[in-house]
Amino acid sequence: MTSMKAIKMLGQNFLVDSNVIARIIDLVAPAPGDHILEVGPGQGALTRSLAASGARVLAIELDRRLAPMLSREFAQNPLIEVIEADVLKVNLLAELSRFSSSGWKVAANLPYNISSQVLIKFLETPTLFSDLYLMLQKEVGDRLAAPPSCKEYGVLTLFCRLHFDVTREFIVRPGSFHPVPKVDSVILRFKALPSPRVDVGDETLFRRVVKAAFAQRRKTLWNCLKFAGFLSDEKLSGILANCRIDPGRRGETLSLDEFAALTRAIIAETPQAGKLVEPLC
Ligand code: SAM
Repeated sequence: MTSMKAIKMLGQNFLVDSNVIARIIDLVAPAPGDHILEVGPGQGALTRSLAASGARVLAIELDRRLAPMLSREFAQNPLIEVIEADVLKVNLLAELSRFSSSGWKVAANLPYNISSQVLIKFLETPTLFSDLYLMLQKEVGDRLAAPPSCKEYGVLTLFCRLHFDVTREFIVRPGSFHPVPKVDSVILRFKALPSPRVDVGDETLFRRVVKAAFAQRRKTLWNCLKFAGFLSDEKLSGILANCRIDPGRRGETLSLDEFAALTRAIIAETPQAGKLVEPLC
């Protein structure tokens, strides 16, 4: 199948290195009874091994040439289903709950141009998943595994940490793909926590607070939160003082616990804040 022309817009860099494929499969450890979601199966480099394990596999592929080919290849295996769709438009809760409403593993060599959006989508329904094994551009992977104050630490780092333990597994070099990308990749494992790591009071508001705090990285937390218009100056001062957070700090220095405390304090001070409903990202 490698003779098929790759579509750049779909982030098509197909895995052609059997050692890397074997290492990813070792990590995912598919087994009979498992439910595995594969995003972007492409030419089936991972799908074949996942299918051979006896696990149920739901694969979502946007390429109109590849999805039917894979469907045909696995037509005799009732545990494999290929959906031709844009993963960002699929109702994951509805699709996955047809088989199981929890415990899904995800295996995905993601198109780099949509990897953050896909991750945000997974974070909207964290209880569906037990483990995500994602191949990401190395820079994106570094961000997700970064500690506070590190320049890579960001909004998505905090959102992920609320629901998952994130570990960096191994680097994949450009030569393992066809066509060869310009950048290194990394495999990350996201192990779902049994419940959110901290009580944030209201997750939608938590996300708004974090996003506001990072909106202008060079500005102080005070300026960022003031600009976001959540609260009057007086209330903002009181809340930061109660949370023992120096208003002169920058958002990127706050830990997950501090953001959680800040969100809970905003809700306590202005209960209607928790009812604000907005797109998450
Ligand atoms: N898993 C294969 C592999 O490792 O060789 C292919 C990985 S390739 C980096 C990304 C795959 O995602 C491509 O097959 C591409 O067509 C597919 N894709 C791109 N955008 C997508 C989307 N929005 N929804 C579902 N699949 C998508």
